[in-house]
Amino acid sequence: MAANTNTDLMSTIVSLCKRRGFIFQSSEIYGGLNSCWDYGPLGVELKRNVKDAWWRSMVTNRRDVAGIDASILMHPKVWEASGHLAGFSDPLVDCKKCKERFRADHLENLDKCPKPKCGGELTDVRKFNLMFKTFMGAVEDNTATVYLRPETAQGIFVNFLNVQQASRLKPPFGIAQIGKSFRNEITPGNFTFRTREFEQMELQFFVPPSEDAKWYEYWFNARRQWYQDYGIKSENLRMRDHEKDEMAHYAKSCVDVEYKFPFGWSELEGIANRTDYDLKQHTEFSGKDLKYFDDESKTHYFPYVIEPSAGADRATLAFLVDAYDVEGEGKDERVVLRFHPALAPIKVAVLPLVKRDGMPEMGEKIYQDLLDHSIKSFYDHASSIGRRYARQDEAGTPFCVTVDGQSTEDQTVTLRERDSREQYRVPANGLVDLINKKMRESMVR
Ligand code: ATP
Repeated sequence: MAANTNTDLMSTIVSLCKRRGFIFQSSEIYGGLNSCWDYGPLGVELKRNVKDAWWRSMVTNRRDVAGIDASILMHPKVWEASGHLAGFSDPLVDCKKCKERFRADHLENLDKCPKPKCGGELTDVRKFNLMFKTFMGAVEDNTATVYLRPETAQGIFVNFLNVQQASRLKPPFGIAQIGKSFRNEITPGNFTFRTREFEQMELQFFVPPSEDAKWYEYWFNARRQWYQDYGIKSENLRMRDHEKDEMAHYAKSCVDVEYKFPFGWSELEGIANRTDYDLKQHTEFSGKDLKYFDDESKTHYFPYVIEPSAGADRATLAFLVDAYDVEGEGKDERVVLRFHPALAPIKVAVLPLVKRDGMPEMGEKIYQDLLDHSIKSFYDHASSIGRRYARQDEAGTPFCVTVDGQSTEDQTVTLRERDSREQYRVPANGLVDLINKKMRESMVR
């Protein structure tokens, strides 16, 4: 069914995600756990493809970036040095009447509850630290307190010299990481947009201080382009510069990549010039000098850091929303997820026209051949061919292969393209090469 409003659109997507196995509520059989979500069979492929696309463009295809995978639990001093223990908090107010909790910085008026039917009195503003605490070892006392990391960036800063020396990269160079982060958000919501457990994709790009503006501009353009390369429509994407009072005190400039979600323009990624703040802080708190030694000029200096920091879950949600399309009317209506082929969870569906005359056997062979070539595929022989196409359109599968009566005679199959619905016959034994070629052509360098 076509959605009439933005609220409808969001709930249509949420229910499509559940029905087709993209995203489920966490611990659903126990009533669910607020703001936690589980990626199902299609969702896990989609999100993995998003992360792979990011990793390819940020690490694999570049000579100046190395990757790491740091642990989630870090020495508690890391969070003192980074400022998270003292300052990573949101201002919070509670309504005394309806007990709802709000972020004070999201309210225009702090006199009364913003819910129209309530209007109750609000508490004073309190600071609420967003870090999750836990205990390491058997004794639950203060000496054993550790935190689930609220961002992946610090794992990169504390490893700056390890990576630099092991990889022998010189500024300008970057360190990239994808991993889970945790924030005890006061107001989680909008499906997977704001959750308490999420995945970040971060790059810290270390540059000579005099080159900071040039690299900030470079990453500003590169990151916007990345979303567009993988299919986000340009009219749904914008770059929003931070106001002076929004910026972290150490940041020199900061811009958000925003997507026009059904619930409004919201941040997908932040790009910041963090100056030399983090390396200096960790040098001070650890007593280890994290300056880079430049062999040519024989000088030690703290590089500046340009940081494009993206969320894998928010990017996945944006790709989902942007791909969603309803075409035609009445019984011709179809729902199609127009994923970029590189992001599509399933690349090829193999569909024997009927369950007899050797068609399932030939279909099975083709299916196995695709799997043997690492092409994520799906085999379906249930229900009418029209319904099977519709199911694949709704899953965003770019190619369907139909085995029919002619196939068993001349070894050709019908290839159907998702977006155009164009159909043409191709030799069955050339399918793997053809799909690989089409995937390569769609790939962004
Ligand atoms: P917001 O203003 O939306 O709270 P932020 O500015 O605090 O986000 P950053 O600290 O810049 O976010 O984190 C970088 C990226 O990590 C964000 O752009 C977003 O994609 C992702 N991210 C941050 N918090 C969450 C969350 N609670 N749920 C999902 N993704 C998140």
